[in-house]
Amino acid sequence: MALKTYREKRNFTRSPEPSGDDAVVAASQGKGREPRFFCVQKHLASALHYDFRIEHDGVLLSWAVPKGPSINSADKRLAMHVEDHPIEYGEFEGVIPEGYGAGVVMLWDRGTWTPEVDDVDAALAKGDLKMTLDGFKLKGSWVLVRTKGWGARKPGEKKADDGKSWLLIKHKDDWAGPIDITTFAPNSVKSDGTFRDILLQKAPDVWQSHRPGSGTGGDAALRKIAEKVAALEEATAAAAPAAAPAAEAKAPKKKPATRKAATKTAGAKKAAASAAPKKAAAKRGGA
Ligand code: MN
Repeated sequence: MALKTYREKRNFTRSPEPSGDDAVVAASQGKGREPRFFCVQKHLASALHYDFRIEHDGVLLSWAVPKGPSINSADKRLAMHVEDHPIEYGEFEGVIPEGYGAGVVMLWDRGTWTPEVDDVDAALAKGDLKMTLDGFKLKGSWVLVRTKGWGARKPGEKKADDGKSWLLIKHKDDWAGPIDITTFAPNSVKSDGTFRDILLQKAPDVWQSHRPGSGTGGDAALRKIAEKVAALEEATAAAAPAAAPAAEAKAPKKKPATRKAATKTAGAKKAAASAAPKKAAAKRGGA
């Protein structure tokens, strides 16, 4: 029953997503403070977001993070609690042609997480879960904290807070730093691919003469997704021209003025270094 909502939302004859194996759920209970699987999937659906998933009691507890995780401890990233996903989902990367979540899913980071508390359920109930991540891009100490609610409905707000809003925050440590990790390391840890690469694997001829959607390959749904990918590529290029190479060139040159700054730069460098060898990373993670 753990995956009831997940399964209700999807038609597995039309979606390549895994339906989830109840035996896996049953076999993955009660891990205490053992390290368990975590991943972040970059998901271009109706809007771009990052799905943050952590294994607990046989499923992946999931939060949709619109802006993506930040390794800057000054940032508080909104994380909307969504339905539990199957553990097998953690390796999924591909194209959802239609239906719920239609678009492209990229495995953006993966690794293990370790609870910094003895009782994860109690921490979730309290709305304050501290954890250590050991991924390829995200590392060190983090917290997921449930917001207290917005109280009175804000003008233009569709509904009052329903308890699903959390914040994902990086704690200050050697792995925190001022680098924008989503810009610095935008690609897949599984395939090293971009959204375009992942889509082209599914529909090699959906792209033609730099005009997404104009190709004859794939069906109408895939051509629509190609348009979405192209729109995101354009928006990204317009917002930060050559942002990634600039960050790469600047980071090592920056002379830390204080010990605190030195730590931050070191952490950012570590994060950058860990994000760089993606091929080795993909191998280590298995398939
Ligand atoms: Mn999603």
